[in-house]
Amino acid sequence: MELIREYSGWLYLVGAILFILTLRGLSSPKTAIQGNRYGMVAMAIAVLTTFFVADHVVVWLILIPMALGAVVGITRARTVPMTQMPETVALMHSLVGLSAVLIAIAAILHNNHLVGLFEQNTSALQNAGVEQPHMSKVHFFELFVGCFVGAITFTASLFAYGKLAAKKWAKTIAGGWVKPLQAILFAVMIVCGGYFFTTGNMAAFWLMTAFALAFGWVWIAPVGGGDMPVVVSLLNSFSGWAAAGIGFTLENNMLIVAGSLVGSSGAILSYIMCKAMNRSILNVLFGGSASTAAVAASGEKVERNYRSGSADDAGFLMSNADSVVIVPGYGMAQGRAQNAVKELAMLLKEEGVKVRFAIHPVAGRMPGHMNVLLAEADVPYDDILEMDEINSDFPATDVVLVIGANDVVNPAAKDNPGSPIYGMPILEAYKARTIMVIKRSMATGYAGLDNDLFYDEKTMMIFGDAKKVVEDMTKSINGAGH
Ligand code: NDP
Repeated sequence: MELIREYSGWLYLVGAILFILTLRGLSSPKTAIQGNRYGMVAMAIAVLTTFFVADHVVVWLILIPMALGAVVGITRARTVPMTQMPETVALMHSLVGLSAVLIAIAAILHNNHLVGLFEQNTSALQNAGVEQPHMSKVHFFELFVGCFVGAITFTASLFAYGKLAAKKWAKTIAGGWVKPLQAILFAVMIVCGGYFFTTGNMAAFWLMTAFALAFGWVWIAPVGGGDMPVVVSLLNSFSGWAAAGIGFTLENNMLIVAGSLVGSSGAILSYIMCKAMNRSILNVLFGGSASTAAVAASGEKVERNYRSGSADDAGFLMSNADSVVIVPGYGMAQGRAQNAVKELAMLLKEEGVKVRFAIHPVAGRMPGHMNVLLAEADVPYDDILEMDEINSDFPATDVVLVIGANDVVNPAAKDNPGSPIYGMPILEAYKARTIMVIKRSMATGYAGLDNDLFYDEKTMMIFGDAKKVVEDMTKSINGAGH
């Protein structure tokens, strides 16, 4: 025990390095499992070391919640379906926020308790050489910031969870009154926090916490469901900063490092997602869906011609191609077609066709959505390429098979300055020799925009549910006995 206490600094350093390696590992599907393992070891080191360095540890008070948490965590991890991952992550962030608030409250009450004891027995304690307990301004600041960031993270993440899980109580709010209410709640929260900071007044502290809780809810409640993944990623970042703030309060270096890593990686992910959607973070958080609004104003629809074909036609073309690139999108997830798609890819490979998958960073409805589905179907990682890796290969590709993707292959992002998605990086499928698109109708995607790719003379639309059409393609290629 003494040994662990003595070497706690080194143990925390090892833990911090392992956390950094975790993030590095998680940046690619190939190394993600290894990254996860580093994270598990780092967390074990962090928890155990903290256990031994703390003064006056009340063991049962720590062990019972840890055991209960482990039971809930392990059960949930084993049972949660992939599709419920975003809301589960949101719920976990809410707990990080709540713990930041509770730790801040505990630290302040503890300090007040010590001050109270001192005031009751001032002369005796002074005679015994005990100094008056005193919390520095820096401490007050950490507590004030950690507490309100934690409180906002708590209610905002709870709302995000409810929204993603389609709970009745998580209702989107809209109207001219929302922004003024947000501004008032925020301003009052800051004023109360400032008063607490300067005077140490507890009533101001409780009011600040209450207003921060209310602000978290009212801040996120107007955000549209489709933007929730960006919000969840941002709240991830907040929960990290709240944890780092509390790390200062508790003078725990590990918590400061881990919190900062979560905070900065969450912020970077939010930035990447916004960039890939051609939205600013402020627009996501305070502006509603810009693109949908723009489409609603864009006037009447013009009928245009397009070419449609059958699964048999597509099967024939693909099995005679040299190279095929598959572009999956939200429709593949919606139609649960990933296993059927993998079968098709395997069959084409057996036919000697070079088959690869092209992944857009915001294809689907959550970060890494397509990677997760393709990994679930056991598609080899080497066949899965990111947008920057594959874009230059499209002109030399015989067939691009777009499966339930729409916005991520919309050429308007490149050539129509008037389009709401102009400037958004896309998979340049339109440059391929032949494009085949599986979807159920000519309906628009998430951004609500028509897609010129579907009317291109090189494009063939194959209408139907993604899974059924892909299975029909496989049958057709098998039946043709290539
Ligand atoms: P889109 O939403 O643009 O298009 C999906 C297409 O799939 C639809 O046009 C739909 O057409 C088709 N579809 C739906 N169900 C099926 C089915 N069962 N079988 C076949 N087709 C189907 O998806 P993308 O993946 O191209 O783009 C993602 C969009 O989501 C982007 O605009 C992105 O900004 C946004 N977004 C992404 C987030 C992320 O983290 N990934 C987060 C928030 C937003 P039809 O109805 O005719 O079948």
